[in-house]
Amino acid sequence: MAAATLSAPETSPVISSELCAAFERLRAHTPVLRREDATARATRLRRLAAWITGNRVAIQTALYADFRKPAAETDLTEIWSTQAEIKHTLAHLRQWMKPRRVGTPLSLLGTTSWVQYEPKGVCLVMAPWNYPFYLAVGPLVSALAAGNCCVLKPSELTPHVATLLRRLAEEVFDPAEVVVLEGGKDMATELLRLPFDHIFFTGSPEVGKIVMRAAAEHLSGVTLELGGKSPAVVDATANLRDAAEKLVWGKFLNAGQTCVAPDYVLVQEPVQAELVREMEAVIRRNYNPAGAGVENSESFARIVNQQHFNRLAGLLEDAQATGATVAVGGEVDGRQCFIAPTVLTQVAPDSRIMQEEIFGPLLPLVPFGTLSEAADFINARPKPLAQYVFTRNAENQRYLLDNVSAGGAAVNETIVHLGHSELPFGGVGNSGVGKAHGHYGFLAFSNEKAVLRQRIGRTSIKLLYPPYTPKVRRM
Ligand code: NAD
Repeated sequence: MAAATLSAPETSPVISSELCAAFERLRAHTPVLRREDATARATRLRRLAAWITGNRVAIQTALYADFRKPAAETDLTEIWSTQAEIKHTLAHLRQWMKPRRVGTPLSLLGTTSWVQYEPKGVCLVMAPWNYPFYLAVGPLVSALAAGNCCVLKPSELTPHVATLLRRLAEEVFDPAEVVVLEGGKDMATELLRLPFDHIFFTGSPEVGKIVMRAAAEHLSGVTLELGGKSPAVVDATANLRDAAEKLVWGKFLNAGQTCVAPDYVLVQEPVQAELVREMEAVIRRNYNPAGAGVENSESFARIVNQQHFNRLAGLLEDAQATGATVAVGGEVDGRQCFIAPTVLTQVAPDSRIMQEEIFGPLLPLVPFGTLSEAADFINARPKPLAQYVFTRNAENQRYLLDNVSAGGAAVNETIVHLGHSELPFGGVGNSGVGKAHGHYGFLAFSNEKAVLRQRIGRTSIKLLYPPYTPKVRRM
């Protein structure tokens, strides 16, 4: 049966009719992708991988133009991470697509059952600006692996990457398979009126709620990859030099604009001063080795725009006004959206910097006494996307993992857990709904269809058919 044709909503008819036409084109194509085998899907993904390899410099240039992201960081966190997702998918796709046989309970003896994976149909991927290539193309890989057509909406805050993504789609995909639509909130609002079969959104919890409300209108499936305040706990047994290296790298990568960056550090009181000294040394080594100033470092990105710069400068000012001390850094330069890697101590727990997701290179340290105080501090706030634990004590590790709820965790490490293809990635509660990456991404974009096959003329429940005689009622 042909799907009903969409009519354009009355507001902004030009955009809407374009969108509706694009949506209809994709929807009409879904039966073609649905019939494809693993080889056809893999061919499409290999074309994508080849395009990325061939356009490495263009990707680096676009990221540098958008927020002066260092080429080495683009290689690691945009290009390599996307290629790793494709490689892992290619290695496992055939297996993931196979129907999965399940056992038979005694009551259904004689039947055969399995789960088969069908594409959801037409999916929407909405991406943020902070890893604008990886967080757009990564979910697209999962959507295509699962056999879907896809609309991709990049963030308007990274326009060079958005334009590059449009070129990617035009050069790699059939326009009936994938379309990239550039635009901001208005475009997103229009898109959210369409009856997508699944929406994969990465962004803030505030917009995540808007997406979920819009999805409810059509009962579209959602995956929401959101943010929040990811805590790190450093106990008195931790190797402080190692902890400082990993915290500094994880926090100041991408100038702190990372969803899983350690947002703040809870440090056991007796080791706070030493941790600060170690962090200061690592910051100098990483971003100011020759003493020319971090602002001249080609290893440190900029804040994405003036609005976010003002927000972060305001958080820093407010923290200082409420008693915080700048232990390291603190320099800001609005003309180039620069904020130095900054460590703050004596931060008031009720100051704004401890209430909002920071999403920039400001790292507050908060001392704690016992582990249960640390766990209570975290659990009194919305559930974080990531939790970091630095300790040499196995009991302490277990206590913090068992008593704090978070989307994911890393022990004696920051961030890299999201690069493990066998681990699900996503939040819990305020930090997200659903999981992504590898097999979990494939499942997010698939309907797990449950199938039971009975032999003709047989059924194990015939005794339960009406009429309901006293004999049946006894069962
Ligand atoms: P955002 O929520 O402002 O924007 C994300 C997307 O939503 C963009 O494409 C944008 O155009 C669109 N959008 C913005 N306002 C909208 C509205 N009112 N209605 C409909 N669509 C709208 O997020 P951001 O600033 O791009 O990214 C930062 C946030 O994303 C942080 O909270 C960060 O923690 C989170 N994040 C999460 C992950 C993750 O994997 N969990 C990854 C990166 C970023």
